[in-house]
This record gives sequence, structure tokens and C-alpha cells, in this order.
Amino acid sequence: MKRTIRDLKNIKDKRVLLRCDFNIPLDKYGDILDDTRIFESLPTIKYLNDQDCKLILCSHLGRPKGYDKYLSLFPVAVYLMKRFPNKVKFCPKVSGKDVTTAVKNLKSGEILLLENLRFDPREEQNDDSFVKELCSIADVYVDDAFGVSHRKHASNYGVALKLPNAIGFLVEKELDVFEKALKNPKRPFVAIFGGAKVKDKLTLINNVLGKADTILIGGGMAYTFLLAKGVNIGKSIVDLDLVDDARDILQKAKEKGTKILLPIDHVTLVGDKVKKAFLMDQDMVGLDIGKDTIKEFKKEIKTAGQILWNGPLGKYEDPRFRKGTYKIAQAVAKSKAYSIVGGGDSVGAINTLGFAKKIDHLSTGGGASMKLMEGKVLPAIEVIDTL
Ligand code: AMP
Repeated sequence: MKRTIRDLKNIKDKRVLLRCDFNIPLDKYGDILDDTRIFESLPTIKYLNDQDCKLILCSHLGRPKGYDKYLSLFPVAVYLMKRFPNKVKFCPKVSGKDVTTAVKNLKSGEILLLENLRFDPREEQNDDSFVKELCSIADVYVDDAFGVSHRKHASNYGVALKLPNAIGFLVEKELDVFEKALKNPKRPFVAIFGGAKVKDKLTLINNVLGKADTILIGGGMAYTFLLAKGVNIGKSIVDLDLVDDARDILQKAKEKGTKILLPIDHVTLVGDKVKKAFLMDQDMVGLDIGKDTIKEFKKEIKTAGQILWNGPLGKYEDPRFRKGTYKIAQAVAKSKAYSIVGGGDSVGAINTLGFAKKIDHLSTGGGASMKLMEGKVLPAIEVIDTL
């Protein structure tokens, strides 16, 4: 078991560096479009602040190449100032003298937010000199940035190797949810997979085979599986190199007792016309699951005890191909099953379609949650001390 902030004793007056994931969407005026990730970090921030330590927060935002005023963390500082009145300070730098001075002036019970870590290229390079600078401003390190825990960056992997450390509540919750879901699922366990990146998804499906009772496959990836079964897929997206792997998975599923359901009808594009089809013609591009597939999938969802969902079931960004993802999201939202949605695009789809509040666990980490579902370790969490 990883050490959590509950296990940190005597941190009063100590300098605690908390790596958060404040990678939130901002508009061009700096207004926060979705505060989920900050909101989810608040319990850890509050807990540490209550311990009367000198709390230093750091995070990345977006993918800047050097300083970029549109990716400043200042709007996050303003957000935090409202939550922790008279306690929050902002340092407009991420390294150097301004940071050391700001930390020196920080009093116990105060919170200092540093500027976007990625304004310094050394962050993503896990550069030793940057690790040293970050370590020099802290006595203890806490990792609550689940969204980057699959990366080996200076502010998570690098610092955790050098300082006494622990995970925060957000990371603890994410690890706990995925571990329980895969090791001790509520049954029937129904996994729903969609999206287009077949390679990533095959690893994921392999890890769930034998654990899930039923796997529902939709989205672009379904066509690689349908081709593996000899079904005509027209001009739909396909990964020809992975057709054999898809065939192996279908075979393995039978051996392991996991039922796999593939789409039986489709919403397709032919030229610029949208057509529904059970059997596809050569000129059709499948872009959403059809009505009968939705019906079949909903039957499984209705009786599920646990649902794990990754990847939209169609090209949902285009309203003409949104219905499959919408109807399945609605069914998951209505179901009594414990529901987990992970992976950047799936979470985006749930938010866009307005079902976020009805999902039991919406993961804050796209790539990181994928890794957990694939059964892989997260390097930045691996280096946190165990109890
Ligand atoms: P992924 O990152 O692998 O989960 O893929 C997400 C993307 O898959 C979204 O942008 C969807 O538009 C896309 N997608 C879903 N279904 C299809 C499809 N049938 N054909 C092409 N793209 C699709």
C-alpha cells in the first residue's frame, strides 16, 4: 500500500510540495471552462493546509513551448483564493530566485502556487538540475497529479525519488477505484470499449478478458474486429496490421468465458449522405453504431453490476454520428451499476453530453487511467514509498 498524506506525521511548519493536476481548459480571457480537476484536488489541499504546513502547489497546464501567457496558472490561483481566503499567493515563476524568495517568505498555513511547470523545458525532460531546484524548496513531496502519473517528469518522478513522499486523496481514490474494479468487480461486469486507436485498446481488452463478463465493442475499433470475423466493413477505419490480434482476442474470449458483442448495424456515410445499414456496401464508412446495436448493448447495461467504459461508440463530435454514444451514456447514467469512465475522449464525451453527474467515477486522468485498465504500473506512483 502506498503511503498517503494521512501517514505524514509532524508536517506542521514544514515545506510541503504538492504536485497537482490543474490541467484545465481555459478560454482566451483566462476563464476556467471546467473546474473538475481543481475541484477534485481541494480535499488534499485542505487537509494539508489544516496541518499548518507551508504548502507549495505546482502543476502543468497544456503543452506550452516556453512561456505562454494563455497557459498561465494565475486563473487557478484566483480560483484557490476564493476557496482559501487570505491564504493563497501566486509566484509568476517556476524556478530561480523568485521562487526561493517566495518560499522563504511563506508562512505556516499559507499556500503558494507556482507558475506552469512546463514553461521550463526541464520539467518534461526530468532534468536533474530542475529536480534539484524543486527539492531545494521542500521538505516533503506529495503526488496528487493522477493525470500525469504515467509520465516520468521532474516534478513527479524526479522529486519523488529524492524527498520523503506520499500520495494525496485524489491519487488514492483513482488507484483504489481501478484496483477494485479489476480485482473484485461487481457482477455482471460489463466493459464498453470504443474509440479509434485500436492498438491501445487491444492491450486494454486483453487485460479485461476473463475478468469482465461481457465486453461491448463499438466505435472505429469495432471494424478491425468485424473484419477479423470476415464481415464487409466498406471504407470504415481499420488497422490491417491488427486484424490477426483482434481474431486472437475473439478466440481467447471464448476460452475465458467473456462474451464479446460487436455492432450488428451501423450509421454510415456514403459520399455526403448518411445511411443506415446492417450489411455494408463497399463505399460505406461506418461512423456510429446503429439502432439495433444500441438495443443489444442497452440490454447488457441494464443488468450490469459494474460498468467500465473507455472510448466513444462513434464519431460523436459530429452530431450526425452522436446517437450511439449518447444513448449508451444515457443507459449507463440510468443503470444501477457502479460506473467508471476513464480515458480522455470518453470523459470528454460524457461531459459534452451532460451525463457527468450520473457516473460514479469519472477519472481525472486520460492516459493514466488507460494504463491502469491495461494492467500496467504508473511510474510516478511506483516511486512513492510503500507502508
Ligand atoms: P480514442 O482516443 O481511441 O478513444 O478515439 C477517440 C476518437 O475516436 C474520437 O475522436 C471519435 O471521433 C473517434 N471515432 C469513434 N468512432 C469512430 C468511427 N466509427 N470512425 C472513425 N472515428 C471514430
